[in-house]
Amino acid sequence: MMEKTIAQILSDRGIEVFGQLPAAEADMLKPPMEGVRAYIMMLLPYHTAGIKRNVALFACFPDYHALTRKLLGEVCAELESRFPGETFKATVDSSPVAEVGCAAKCGLGVIGDNGLLINERYGSYCFIAEIATTLELPPLKRDTGAFACLNCGACVNACPHGALSADGFDADKCVSHVSQKKGQLTPEEEEMISSADFIWGCDRCQDACPLNAGLGDTRLECFKATAPIVTEEMADDPVFFKASAFAWRGKQTILRNIALQKRKNQ
Ligand code: SF4
Ligand code: SF4
Repeated sequence: MMEKTIAQILSDRGIEVFGQLPAAEADMLKPPMEGVRAYIMMLLPYHTAGIKRNVALFACFPDYHALTRKLLGEVCAELESRFPGETFKATVDSSPVAEVGCAAKCGLGVIGDNGLLINERYGSYCFIAEIATTLELPPLKRDTGAFACLNCGACVNACPHGALSADGFDADKCVSHVSQKKGQLTPEEEEMISSADFIWGCDRCQDACPLNAGLGDTRLECFKATAPIVTEEMADDPVFFKASAFAWRGKQTILRNIALQKRKNQ
């Protein structure tokens, strides 16, 4: 009954893939919030098929932190009204739980060789979010069946500077990481950005993954791509920039990346 109520509240807002993890079973990065007994782990898919873009797919719509806060703020308010006396607090990215591991424990997907969670229906183009609650919840795990990473090496081969390897992930060699660095880049880093596909982020290891082929679009309206091609003029527009996924890094960073990409085309 309790699970059905939670499933209905989530489904009413387009969240179909979720699981429940008692706090004692969660892998933690930081100490948990006081009184938390369980986590509701959720996938928020953002895939829009066949879209031409010059920013990574997660940046083709306004900042997902703000969108997620609004979406899950409504979910938490409704849960609190259905379960009086209990608290519900949503987080994405800033959670004390190890999100990928906990999402995999709930069967929201499997962990690929690229280190990302991959769902059988939405691939790896998904944010992981969670709601910490004082409500005691039994474990609820989806069955992923035979779905698994193919260990095909396509992600490793697609990675332009060897950030992915058998030794794991090296952030210094990752275009996405470097594109989000502030200030002056080294000549090597500048070259990484000027030769990249995108001016913000990088999706190469995801685009190459066969498990990401033929995905449908997200059902979450707020994550449908609205601004896939970002120009210098758009970055200079204070309204657009303030709402964008790259606003947190400051305008100079995205303008620097655009200038480096222009260099490639000269
Ligand atoms: S995001 Fe790009 S650079 Fe980073 S690991 Fe994936 S393919 Fe490599
Ligand atoms: S590209 Fe292949 S090895 Fe890499 S995550 Fe996808 S299925 Fe796994």
